[in-house]
Amino acid sequence: MAKGKFPIEKLKRIDTPFYYYDAELLRQTLRVINTEASKHEGFCVHYAVKANANPKVLRIIRESGLGVDCVSGGEIEVSLKAGFPASKIVFAGVGKSDWEINIGLDNDIFCFNVESIPELEVINELAAQKGKVARVAFRLNPNVGAHTHANITTGLAENKFGIAMRDMMSVIEEAISMKNVKVVGLHFHIGSQILDMGDFEALCNRVNELQNELERHRIVMEHINVGGGLGVDYQHPNRLPIPDFKAYFDTYAKKLKLRPGQTLHFELGRAVVAQCGSLITRTLYIKQGATKQFAIVDAGFPDLIRPALYQAYHKIENITSEEPFQTYDVVGPICESTDVFAKQIDLNQCHRGDLLAIRSAGAYGEIMASQYNCRRLPKGYMSDEI
Ligand SMILES: *Cc1c(COP(=O)(O)O)cnc(C)c1O
Repeated sequence: MAKGKFPIEKLKRIDTPFYYYDAELLRQTLRVINTEASKHEGFCVHYAVKANANPKVLRIIRESGLGVDCVSGGEIEVSLKAGFPASKIVFAGVGKSDWEINIGLDNDIFCFNVESIPELEVINELAAQKGKVARVAFRLNPNVGAHTHANITTGLAENKFGIAMRDMMSVIEEAISMKNVKVVGLHFHIGSQILDMGDFEALCNRVNELQNELERHRIVMEHINVGGGLGVDYQHPNRLPIPDFKAYFDTYAKKLKLRPGQTLHFELGRAVVAQCGSLITRTLYIKQGATKQFAIVDAGFPDLIRPALYQAYHKIENITSEEPFQTYDVVGPICESTDVFAKQIDLNQCHRGDLLAIRSAGAYGEIMASQYNCRRLPKGYMSDEI
């Protein structure tokens, strides 16, 4: 079992638990994204800020030239502060508050991804108050299932997201009649941690049908936004540290029929940042239970909630021991039975003080941390700054 590469002596000096980001892997990942996307005309990639908004992570992503996908006013503020141009910001979300819409309007963001008629009316009204015209795309619910965890599929008719396809024409016609919005695109997002390219193909087929329908009404959108959702290999972070962006972009290039001049936008979160991050935690105690042994560590679900929330698997390595393997449940200190990072896994024999790396934690890790139990929020460190 090959382990990840960690600067162990440096990590030992930092107070645990903390997030450790491999800057070189993040840069390499961004290079592959840019290389593979730029092979296709009109492809524009946005980074979904909700996956990780650590300022140091955002700076590296901004340097790569990607745009951003924001789902709150706070994310727009953080993105602007990190130096992303407003002209590359898209803003999605089923429940945008007035102050959030106003931040988007004041900064002339690229596009609001609108999820309902009542929201469209509010955007039109707020834009009118400012004498502006808001660029809007409609998020349609394509009723395409993704083969992923039920809590993270978003493109089924039963989900709260988006506008039903049968309402598309009436919504567009209503928007065209409004003075302070301009319809520029269609938006989709079918879910997260998707590894089956067939799911993205199904989305392409649906987009093609909808574009044909629009064409019958002589409407051509400036852009199509297919959201994000590309998954990563949580089982083998060392074997496949960079997701297969080639297969991903090639699928869209082959299956989605863009109209002349149309651009195709992507909103990738997890696939950009998951593999570059690890949660580093210290072993506090080894406890022999009646039937098993526990490695009790100083990180808990307030630091990384994915295992408790989604039963997510994260590979764990003891990065300070080369002793023979033993089997452990790796658990945190929180008084909840869900505060478990892994059950019955093999680790090099653990002792008090050993550092464990909980891998593939760069996405939906640090950003979802809470202070439950009045704990300190975990800090994040870049490999090139420690
Ligand atoms: C969460 C989200 C994304 C990013 O999803 P990933 O699975 O992390 O790629 C993109 N677009 C929208 C609208 C989202 O809500």
